[in-house]
Amino acid sequence: MCETCGCDAAPGDARLTTLPPPAPDPDHRHEHEHEHEHRHEHAHGLGRTVALGQKVLAHNDDLAGRNRAWLAERGVVALNVMSSPGSGKTTLLERTVADLGADRPISVIEGDQETLLDARRLAAAGARTVQVNTGAGCHLDAAMVAEALTALAPRDGSTVFVENVGNLVCPALFDLGERARVVLMSVTEGADKPLKYPHMFRGADVLLLNKIDLLPHVDFDVAACRDAARRLCPGLSVLPLSATRGDGLGAWYDWLAAL
Ligand code: MG
Repeated sequence: MCETCGCDAAPGDARLTTLPPPAPDPDHRHEHEHEHEHRHEHAHGLGRTVALGQKVLAHNDDLAGRNRAWLAERGVVALNVMSSPGSGKTTLLERTVADLGADRPISVIEGDQETLLDARRLAAAGARTVQVNTGAGCHLDAAMVAEALTALAPRDGSTVFVENVGNLVCPALFDLGERARVVLMSVTEGADKPLKYPHMFRGADVLLLNKIDLLPHVDFDVAACRDAARRLCPGLSVLPLSATRGDGLGAWYDWLAAL
């Protein structure tokens, strides 16, 4: 049980699967797809109390700090990509890998409760990818990311996207050791999401507003959404884009380049 949020009915069930991109990389230590399961150690099991939640988060913060140091030693930039399910995280990352992967090595840690579907998409796009299946878990934590980073073995100076489990609630609580938090929304979700899920938006480093190609067909107030997000996070960069059609991707790539 994840005592912090109470939504993980099966503790320690996270599974890691490593998927290489289609073209073999002779310089890389992991050339073959392999699958293995890990059972994580958690400081869980003491009851669902606020005090325990704080203890779990403090333990997570400690591990996140170690991840941050590990990444910094290697000059690896990690980004924690968070959104509701269906906002377009995987599509955006597919496009980003395809557009930028030739200039800077990109790898992905993919979080979903089940399946390898998104990891296969990103591997096919050219990114070395580790899928973390969380079972009943609703978020990635720093321990899962530490294990995934070991399996991923990202190159020095590379970029690692961590696609978190689709959820605007619990992922906001767990520092993974990332350099920046990327929050994605789509215009099909409603402009009031920042007001309903303030923790997620308060901690964002950038807000990507996806699926703007659908704006003519939906009732979505871009300015209201931007204003709501900036009330929580003053000065927040809000970048409208369409990951499928390509609108606005240049601003996203410029933002990444400036990290
Ligand atoms: Mg996905």
